[in-house]
Amino acid sequence: MNTTKIGWIGLGTMGVPMSQQLIKAGYTLIVYNRSKEKEEALKNDGAEIAATPGELLQRADVVIIMVTDDKAIEGVFSGDGGLLNVEARGKVIINMSTVSPAISKKIADLCKEQGNVYLDAPVSGSVKQAETGQLVIMIGGDEAEFKKVEPILLRMGKMATYVGASGAGNTAKLAINTLLSFHTQGLAEAVLLAKKNGIETETLLTLLNNGALGNPFMKIKGDAILNNNFKPAFTLKNILKDLKLAKDIGLDTPMGKTTLATFEAAEPQFGDEDLIAVIKQIEK
Ligand code: NAP
Repeated sequence: MNTTKIGWIGLGTMGVPMSQQLIKAGYTLIVYNRSKEKEEALKNDGAEIAATPGELLQRADVVIIMVTDDKAIEGVFSGDGGLLNVEARGKVIINMSTVSPAISKKIADLCKEQGNVYLDAPVSGSVKQAETGQLVIMIGGDEAEFKKVEPILLRMGKMATYVGASGAGNTAKLAINTLLSFHTQGLAEAVLLAKKNGIETETLLTLLNNGALGNPFMKIKGDAILNNNFKPAFTLKNILKDLKLAKDIGLDTPMGKTTLATFEAAEPQFGDEDLIAVIKQIEK
């Protein structure tokens, strides 16, 4: 039994399997989700429930956040019952959401004034890696504080790497997701080119997966294309969010501009589907 009490905010696609890893590891978990019905699964696993993020902060030693975007982070910290609106000191708040480096720097300063520590710790990997504790975690903030919570992070990830000052984890994550968008659009375009010239998608994917370009991402997304299964592991609207954040920190390259335009065009129709649904937009 681990004595550190962990508070968890955000029980979406990633938040549920990630928080379940901590219950499995023996931590006492207190959870909060904006839509209360999503707390049920964790309650059944033994988690306690908090009515607000602020209450959660008061009851926990460490608070982990996994929500959508900067707007959600503003709500969790500064909204009614937000983390910054309660008396609580000596806590570590770890934001694992993919957000802008700018908001991490701002919130880190506000947490410091409050008497708490803020780390940005976004993740690479998706649902499968979350379910198996195999995420790759990148950390920005105070290195000594990161070392104190590293054992917790390593319950969710196969590695947790310190990158630099506040926001550095977010910056690394945006660079990775920029490449993810290129891979996604590239896979879609290769499949469509082959198909246009009479090559079966299955044949192309077998060749691709067995060659030098084969990797877990290509395999999973290739299978999704083949099975016409666009159930989201990572939504198309969320990769678009990340490309916009990357643009804000200087992504201004030929492929950066092209993928941003493609995902922007795809979002109205396919935003809630998996990001590989971009193939349907390109095919149109
Ligand atoms: P998701 O399934 O859409 O879940 C989003 C979570 O954020 C939900 O708990 C949602 O609460 C909460 N939320 C949204 N807006 C909020 C607000 N204004 N106030 C409070 N809570 C709010 O997203 P996800 O796929 O788990 O992704 C979470 C984060 O991880 C994102 O930053 C994403 O970019 C990143 N990420 C995702 C993946 C992936 O493969 N899915 C991989 C790596 C990183 P409700 O239930 O009330 O809507």
